[in-house]
Amino acid sequence: IPGAGYLETEAPDMTFKDVGGMDDVKEQIRMKVIHPMANAELFKAYGKSVGGGILLYGPPGCGKTLLARATAGEVKASFMAVGLHDVLDMWIGQSEKNLHEVFSQARMHAPSVLFFDEVDALGASRSDLKQSAGRNTINQFLSELDGIDSDNNGLLILAATNAPWHLDSAFRRPGRFDRIIFVPPPDLPARAAILEVMVRNKPADRIDFEAVAKKTDGFSGADLKGLIDDAIEAKLEEAMKKGDLVPLTTKDLLKAAKRIKPSTREW
Ligand code: ATP
Repeated sequence: IPGAGYLETEAPDMTFKDVGGMDDVKEQIRMKVIHPMANAELFKAYGKSVGGGILLYGPPGCGKTLLARATAGEVKASFMAVGLHDVLDMWIGQSEKNLHEVFSQARMHAPSVLFFDEVDALGASRSDLKQSAGRNTINQFLSELDGIDSDNNGLLILAATNAPWHLDSAFRRPGRFDRIIFVPPPDLPARAAILEVMVRNKPADRIDFEAVAKKTDGFSGADLKGLIDDAIEAKLEEAMKKGDLVPLTTKDLLKAAKRIKPSTREW
């Protein structure tokens, strides 16, 4: 990757209403970043810190990236997503310089949400990790977070990992990733809400989302997406044969649920 200029800056049009369930997590993000960002002076007057980063952790496919993107949408900020393993794979020898460019680009587009996925790569070097960052890269990341040579105003840093215990403890100090939020696998009401979001604006016939939620224990958000895609494909075939819309039904979703394997049982 020649520098970080390739990094896509999005202007997300999605918000929390596009993220099903997760009321707790959304509320925590509102309290910890959205309100402080919008009311910085008030928070400072009461001695509450503004800024710093948030670490999201939990099983894969349960909406961490989606939440980060929706957070940007909520505050009308630009959004940049960076996968840390890719960074380490491709930027060998110049990780520090490029990390700096990533942060610079985010600062330039402020207000912005900068999202780092797979930050377990910033862990103490361990043999069971595929890739881990060198000390210099970790130090560079820390000084970017601290805004040592630059102004991090209007910069919101979110990071995600499935393995928070791998992260170097220096990252959890105040002003860094001092807020850690667990993004759990969706429970029954959350699954119903997620399915509802996914079916919104599609031809459907009064679906009993709770009934489907009951049959999808252990499904992640991504699994539910798979279920809906599967049901829609079957429906599209029917619709093409008929040459007209055929609405999705509860039965279609229940059928699709049987074809998909849940991925989050162990959590
Ligand atoms: P990973 O740890 O693998 O990066 P993740 O937690 O970041 O996973 P996402 O990429 O946000 O997971 O979710 C995968 C997909 O699952 C999303 O693009 C979306 O389609 C769907 N999804 C997950 N959770 C939700 C949700 N709460 N509401 C609506 N869709 C969801």
